[in-house]
Amino acid sequence: MNSHSEHVLALLERLSRVINNDAGLSELKPAQWEALRFLSQANKFSRTPSALTSYLGVTKGTVSQTLNALERKGLICKKKDAGDRRSVSIQLTEKGKGILNNDPLKALLGAIEQLSNSQLNTLASTLELVLTTALQQRAGAPFGVCKSCKYFMRNVVDGTPHRCALLQVPLTSMESDLICREHTN
Ligand code: SF4
Repeated sequence: MNSHSEHVLALLERLSRVINNDAGLSELKPAQWEALRFLSQANKFSRTPSALTSYLGVTKGTVSQTLNALERKGLICKKKDAGDRRSVSIQLTEKGKGILNNDPLKALLGAIEQLSNSQLNTLASTLELVLTTALQQRAGAPFGVCKSCKYFMRNVVDGTPHRCALLQVPLTSMESDLICREHTN
């Protein structure tokens, strides 16, 4: 590892400590905030305990405890799938959507908003590359945004107005901005 790589690694570690320290001072645990954020960004195929487990890269037991705590606080609700009773989908409640306004991660936004558009674009593409490579090494799913997936069909006759060629379902414009566990580059 050269000294530039080590410096970047140290910066990422410090940044992650700032994020976790901020979250640790709030009313929810860091893992509970991560679960709420995921549920606010994930599409309907991904709002499940198993997708959350894959997204967070933690054990099923940890996710189960996190979801039970959020349910007790009235921030999420679980619904059994009508077609498959063993499958559960998770929704944010109105209270759950509301508490995201107090997300401690937003404290970092002020610093990020100081960057110019070209700095933001460079930072976003660089971090995406690092994250994707790290996930590939761990066989993790990238959970990309739907409209950048190779199966996304924009404005098609049998879409609403878009369509997923993998799952063979219509997609609204709002759904095309959400993240998906099946996303493929
Ligand atoms: S197009 Fe890709 S990302 Fe979108 S729903 Fe289908 S598989 Fe998921």
